[in-house]
Amino acid sequence: MSASLSSEEHTNSYYAATRNDLTDYPVLQGEVETEICVIGAGFTGTAAALTMAERGHAVTLLEQHRISWGASGRNGGQLIHGLGGTSRLRPLIGDEAIWKLHYRGNDIIKERIEKYNIECDFKFGYIEVALKPSHMRGLLEDFEEHKQRDLDHHLKLMDKDEVCSVLGTDAFIGGMTNDLNGHLHPLNLCAGEARAAASLGAKIFEQSGVTDIVHGDKVKVITAEGTVIADKVLIAGNAYHHLEQKNLSGLVFPAGSFIIATEPLSDDEVKAINPLDLAVVDLNNVLDYYRMSADNRLLFGGRCNYSGRVPESIQAIMVPRMLKVYPSMEGKRIDYEWGGNIGIVIKRVPLLGRITNNVFYSMGYSGHGVAPTHIAAEVMSDAMEGNDDILRAYEQINHFRIPLGQWFGNQIVALGMLYFRMRDLLW
Ligand SMILES: Cc1cc2nc3c(=O)[nH]c(=O)nc-3n(C[C@H](O)[C@H](O)[C@H](O)COP(=O)(O)OP(=O)(O)OC[C@H]3O[C@@H](n4cnc5c(N)ncnc54)[C@H](O)[C@@H]3O)c2cc1C
Repeated sequence: MSASLSSEEHTNSYYAATRNDLTDYPVLQGEVETEICVIGAGFTGTAAALTMAERGHAVTLLEQHRISWGASGRNGGQLIHGLGGTSRLRPLIGDEAIWKLHYRGNDIIKERIEKYNIECDFKFGYIEVALKPSHMRGLLEDFEEHKQRDLDHHLKLMDKDEVCSVLGTDAFIGGMTNDLNGHLHPLNLCAGEARAAASLGAKIFEQSGVTDIVHGDKVKVITAEGTVIADKVLIAGNAYHHLEQKNLSGLVFPAGSFIIATEPLSDDEVKAINPLDLAVVDLNNVLDYYRMSADNRLLFGGRCNYSGRVPESIQAIMVPRMLKVYPSMEGKRIDYEWGGNIGIVIKRVPLLGRITNNVFYSMGYSGHGVAPTHIAAEVMSDAMEGNDDILRAYEQINHFRIPLGQWFGNQIVALGMLYFRMRDLLW
């Protein structure tokens, strides 16, 4: 049970232990010419590579470690609609365009699972739970917005007793289910999308970290043993990359989020705590999230740290949080504990843009990324084909840049998060 955030193979997570696809793509050696070079094979990079391959482009995908090694292979697996920063984007693109994007990530993922037969334990079922009255007001607003779109039949507002009946805990004062959202095995989804891209001709290289990008009409993407010469490049390294510092430093900050997986529970135990098999997320700013795995483990995640260090014992931090919701889990064996970096952007709008007219980037989903990465991948694919209306809206967001380097930036972000944590506790 290790919790490395940086080893070259996958971290020792429940997902890595149950992955279908032991990816073993070659290391890039020598020179490769391509139309589109994508850097980073998490959801953003892999989904974009697949979209571009589906549209008939020659694509090369470079990953420094393994497919889905970063946040995409380690997350809570909660498929939650939306793209983040809606309130800032709405005045720029309008309500209609926002709603078109809202569930687009869910749709893309569903279509791909079906089209490419990707086995990733996908299930519908999701609930947001409230810990205080302001959370309930937020849920009501969300319900009303869905009602205006005739989507309210997918939602159900619940009081404390109703939540207790579906989650077997009185820890929450209410909640709202949404049957358009759900949960899945993220590492298996991402590896499946990579496999699909490769089947359509995309060239994929693992253990091929990009060290430099040389700009020009043709862009040179340099790795230790090779070079890709590309018409266009998409940087999709999220919280794990250090490329293009002059343009991108001080904008996205890595923050650790951590998950524990219990031993498999009996059917009766599952029936007592999550009979509808819902993905559960609370509405705090610094939130907890949990769900059952396909083999009946409780996967319980949350907590953020901004130091970049992995706690000595993740379970020492996470078990008390789990027991607060489910005292009955006392004494359960913890079989896996792991963490990963999310990319925090101060304004909580994903950072989509371009450095030149042929080098693009997409990152910084601030902890909500399974669906948003797939939306962003499509937006970036459209933009690389010259249809950049949505990208131009993202580029108008005036992102807050923290100067003086990563360490200083992380302290500022940590202070900001402390403020939000206090808000969670106080009102
Ligand atoms: C513990 C945890 C739980 C989470 N839970 C949820 C959840 O339940 N639901 C949800 O919606 N979101 C969740 N998130 C957020 C979500 O996982 C991320 O927003 C999303 O996966 C980001 O995808 P990405 O492809 O942009 O980045 P990543 O998945 O981090 O991928 C970036 C990739 O780029 C590679 N890379 C970096 N630099 C280079 C380079 N120089 N050369 C080559 N490759 C490079 C990295 O190795 C990595 O594989 C969670 C995140 C974490 C960490």
